[in-house]
Amino acid sequence: MKYEVGMIIETKKPHVCQNNLWIVIRTGADIKIKCQKCNREIMLPKVKLDKIIKKDN
Ligand SMILES: [Zn+2]
Repeated sequence: MKYEVGMIIETKKPHVCQNNLWIVIRTGADIKIKCQKCNREIMLPKVKLDKIIKKDN
């Protein structure tokens, strides 16, 4: 999976705020994403992100 700043990704499980849409705000070995509902930002390794997002969109 290739990530680009500004792209919207969907996680399999929703965030604590029940939203599952995130925007990519930084890429690299670690990817930083921001929740589209509560604006919380999290950073996680690309390999981990690959496992938790839906790829069929
Ligand atoms: Zn959230």
